[in-house]
Amino acid sequence: MGKVTLSLIKADVGSVAGHTRPHPKMMEVAKEVLKDGVKAGTINDFMVARCGDDISLIMTHEKGENNEQVHKLAWDAFSAAAEVAKKFGLYGAGQDLLSDAFSGNIRGLGPGAAEMTFEERPSEPIIALLADKTEPSAFNLPLARIYADPFTTTGLVIDSRMHEGFIFEVVDVKENKRILLKTPEELHDLLAFIGDITRYAIKRIYSKQENIGIAAVVSTEKLSLLAGKYVGKDDPVALIRLQSGLPAAGEVTQPFAFPALVSGWMRGSHWGPWLPSAMDYSNTTFYDGPPRIVALGFQVKDGKLIGIEEEPKVGEHKPVDFFADPAWDKVRHMAMEQAIYIRRHGPFMPAILPPEELEYTTLPQVRSRLADRWEDYEAAQLHSLKEEYKGEHIVHE
Ligand SMILES: [Mg+2]
Repeated sequence: MGKVTLSLIKADVGSVAGHTRPHPKMMEVAKEVLKDGVKAGTINDFMVARCGDDISLIMTHEKGENNEQVHKLAWDAFSAAAEVAKKFGLYGAGQDLLSDAFSGNIRGLGPGAAEMTFEERPSEPIIALLADKTEPSAFNLPLARIYADPFTTTGLVIDSRMHEGFIFEVVDVKENKRILLKTPEELHDLLAFIGDITRYAIKRIYSKQENIGIAAVVSTEKLSLLAGKYVGKDDPVALIRLQSGLPAAGEVTQPFAFPALVSGWMRGSHWGPWLPSAMDYSNTTFYDGPPRIVALGFQVKDGKLIGIEEEPKVGEHKPVDFFADPAWDKVRHMAMEQAIYIRRHGPFMPAILPPEELEYTTLPQVRSRLADRWEDYEAAQLHSLKEEYKGEHIVHE
């Protein structure tokens, strides 16, 4: 077995009753397109999943990352799903397909992609993290915890293959640059950057062990679309390799036991807590949220996928749905208490994002319409004092 590429490509191409979930028929037609892709030899195997209103295509092949044929296949699958959405009159039908036609690569065309290529180990366990109603830098905190915090990942202390730490690739979305930082030695430098989720996003993480290589990758397509302008409000996905010199599944899901606040939620304009959800319960029906995180586990073997299906069959896989476990009920309860609390601030900060981070705003229009009614403060004060001396505005008690 040579190198295998795992491609996770996602898009929102329409949803029932607002931004809740795609219609099952949309997932079905996407699956049919990918089945044809397997027959044509474009991909080896696949799984169609979702989180909230986003459809995720998880595919294996040997064509490497950014492959035109693979990206075209994903584009065709999303186009077919968008056709169903249009036919049913669903909300936001085709919204993430920004171009009329596919051209070379999915980057810049709307969908997001997380892709990794690796030499398959004898056992290759993977978790796909699918998020809805947030943005790629929302993964900064959990990824820092997983790969650089020994209080989350005991493996950093007790596994000799992880003891040396990891290498983080961080993207500066404003300058359109990237930097590689090593942990633990550059941990504080790393945190100085990635704590600012308006500007920095983790793109990849590598093991320092050369024979392991890539550890994790996040979809950040829209971040690099326009240098200098933040256009990254795209529901992110990530692929994470597990075990044997990499964090265990439990170390990867552990940071989500803390419902950290992330930006997105309703209209992409609020702060809200992560709500860990089973895939089938990831419909964003509480104020169009709260932001969801779904964790799906599976194996890659001989370039194909293995889940918990009775008989592994191409395109018919059932992943382990980590957050379906009732163990996460307590976290969901905590997250919902936070969600209800912060919602009560309505349109006030810190419930809403600062003006420059709002996905859209009417503030400039309101400002210009009322521009003439703003008086000079000092002059207005003086004016009202004079009026009072004339006795005209004195209130008798
Ligand atoms: Mg979405």
